[in-house]
Order: sequence, then structure tokens, then C-alpha cells
Amino acid sequence: MTEEEKTEEKASTKKEHVCTVCGKVADATICQACEEKIRGEAFEKKRVIEKS
Ligand SMILES: [Zn+2]
Repeated sequence: MTEEEKTEEKASTKKEHVCTVCGKVADATICQACEEKIRGEAFEKKRVIEKS
């Protein structure tokens, strides 16, 4: 195991929430950037469904 991997393992055991999508530290389960992205994708999908 490299020193870098050890540091990463330590960080993952911290109590801080991390985004389940990008893995970055976030206040919620999903960080704002990913949440917006998912919302945008869901919105696009909905539009496609409504169109057809
Ligand atoms: Zn994220």
C-alpha cells in the first residue's frame, strides 16, 4: 500500500459526508453540483417522456 492510499483510507473513515456520485466532501448525500446535474438529467428525461 502506498502512502497515498493510506491517506485516502483515513479520509474515508472520517465522519464527514461525501457525495455518493463524485466522492467529494459534501453537506448532503449528494453534493450540490451532482444534485443539479441529476436534476437536469431527470428534467430532460421527463421532457422526452412528455413529448412522445
Ligand atoms: Zn458530487
